[in-house]
Amino acid sequence: LSMDDRDGFIWLDGKVVPWRDSRMHVLTHALHYGSAVFEGERIYDGRVFRLAAHSQRLINSARLLDYEIPWTRQQIEEATRAVVKANGLQSGYVRPIAWRGSEVMGVSAIGTTVHLAIAPWAQEGRLSVQARDAGINVTMAKYRRPSADFAPGHAKVAGLYLICGIEKDKALKAGFDDALMLDWKGDLAESTGANIFLVIDGTLVTPTPENFLDGITRRAVMSLARKRGWSVEERTVKPQELSRASEVFLCGTAAEIVPVGSVDGHNYQAGPVARTLMADFHKLVRSPDCEGFGESTHLAPPVDRAA
Ligand code: PMP
Repeated sequence: LSMDDRDGFIWLDGKVVPWRDSRMHVLTHALHYGSAVFEGERIYDGRVFRLAAHSQRLINSARLLDYEIPWTRQQIEEATRAVVKANGLQSGYVRPIAWRGSEVMGVSAIGTTVHLAIAPWAQEGRLSVQARDAGINVTMAKYRRPSADFAPGHAKVAGLYLICGIEKDKALKAGFDDALMLDWKGDLAESTGANIFLVIDGTLVTPTPENFLDGITRRAVMSLARKRGWSVEERTVKPQELSRASEVFLCGTAAEIVPVGSVDGHNYQAGPVARTLMADFHKLVRSPDCEGFGESTHLAPPVDRAA
């Protein structure tokens, strides 16, 4: 089913509109200059996991690009709930996106209107249960995540997905499921759409997100592991350490938690650490307070943190 030709509703600039009517002009700034910011969220039992954290990260991403979304976090949360309900979804994926409009054409976005759309649809975890059992097969990407003074890496901004898209397509065409990306220094960063964990000598190790997205799922996974009394290290991870790991897994909103079965032919077992965390995660996302900031309080503005 083509994404632009479906039944259902999208929240667009304050109104819930029929799916096929949510269109924009070809001279939209974001289309030409990559200035859209977005989120990926997941609906479990009719509720959006970490809705507050995702909505705040959307606002923060726009601010990192020097623009303000003309809706408060609470309004974005209400709009999300309303459109999920309008579509009658109990489970699925939500894509909120904010972008600079079409009033002016040129590199500068000054003078353009900021728009916001929220589109939810039915979508199970990206990967089949079978792929989850065996683990996915990944390769190493050529392009690297840029340094913090080269791009606003903590913003979930359309422009920064250019290299992710190229690497993901290349991996799929070569028969892999995804690609692992290094950062500008040559250290392990993340995959094209998820964060990464390695299990080394019984410790969970994950790269410090200095120049890439500090995933909301990543934070949840660290917290679940610590609750089990497991040691978790956030540190620089060299790609060579992949050969020492007993398990490797990815995590993100779309991927949830997915074991890696191989990296360029080096095989891993979809092991007990990932399996236990998958079960814990399954429970967490269905807990009654799952819509809040949870363990992602780093995304909340100080005023909200005190409240
Ligand atoms: N890195 C990238 C590049 C991503 O696209 C995502 C998915 N949003 C993540 C990491 C994981 O982030 P989250 O857990 O917040 O979905």
